[in-house]
Amino acid sequence: MMNLEYYQELNSAELKKLIQETRGKLGKKLFILAHYYQIDDIVDLSDAQGDSFALASQGAQNKEAQYIVFCGVRFMAEASATLAREGQRVFMPDTDAGCPLADLADIDQVEEAWQTLQEAGVAQDTIPITYMNSSSELKAFCGKNGGLVCTSSNAGKAFDWALKQKPKIFFFPDEHLGRNTANAKNIQESEIALWDPLKEHGANPNQDLQNAKVILWKGFCHVHTFFNLEQIKLMREKHPGCKIAVHPECPEHVVQAADGNGSTSYLKKFVEEDDSGKTLVIGTEINMVSRLAKHNPDKKVVPLARSLCPNMFKTSLADLAYVLENLPNVNEITVPDYIKNDAKLALERMLTLT
Ligand code: SF4
Repeated sequence: MMNLEYYQELNSAELKKLIQETRGKLGKKLFILAHYYQIDDIVDLSDAQGDSFALASQGAQNKEAQYIVFCGVRFMAEASATLAREGQRVFMPDTDAGCPLADLADIDQVEEAWQTLQEAGVAQDTIPITYMNSSSELKAFCGKNGGLVCTSSNAGKAFDWALKQKPKIFFFPDEHLGRNTANAKNIQESEIALWDPLKEHGANPNQDLQNAKVILWKGFCHVHTFFNLEQIKLMREKHPGCKIAVHPECPEHVVQAADGNGSTSYLKKFVEEDDSGKTLVIGTEINMVSRLAKHNPDKKVVPLARSLCPNMFKTSLADLAYVLENLPNVNEITVPDYIKNDAKLALERMLTLT
């Protein structure tokens, strides 16, 4: 068994050769998944590409795959391990690749907030919803408390589902996806409360929690909050008539100033299906925007600004070669059963959204 340092000294041609050899040896037993934000070298060597939930589902649906290697960040590999079928094992090339947004809400903070909502007489009227970009513990919390998981594609449907059952939603950990979703549902600013986990009582008097229809966790993705109105203005000046689409993790004023907003899959379609001949300006992680430009050479695709996710960037060819050559002895991601069962329940409730 070679250690990681051994692979880090090889050049990219040597690493690609090793990776291809291992893929050849393991055949269909191996399934390499790559999130859209991974670097090109990794995407090119993967078997499937997509957003976090689509990939986790594809892993579970692949009956021949025994080893799922998830090139992404930790919450994605955990979701894959949660949904994995009997006998499947999930691995990450770099287990240090986390998600700063997911880390902005931990289970102790969420339990404490829920306790405050209970004391304010609000919890019994509230459905908790966690964004896919969260730890397994938070997904399990939602499963246990009648809530569900949502993605940036189905957040609107998740809000509808929740509000049919109870009058309030507690949404974590991304304030912006929650606010943009609430705006799309015409929920008024006065009906939204912001829960700040670092402040006493979330910085909300009981009255505000009682009045709110939606309580948003004060969390954000630094990759998407990097985008601003000035960049939109500059792009409209530089590319007159351009069309701008952004991810809903961007701040509300950026989403409102864009021509469209949606998940990574939406942004991909936005480019692929456009036949206007106009410049397409995309506000999301730079590796994905560069790939969209590369794969659509007949269109002019430019980034709203360069914004890189350093955690997605962590997974290197050396990491992938290391994990593949040492399967199944290194970097396995597991979720304990007591968390997995409730987390799965919250994910399965999401699958019922129509
Ligand atoms: S882009 Fe944002 S949400 Fe996605 S992994 Fe990076 S920090 Fe997390």
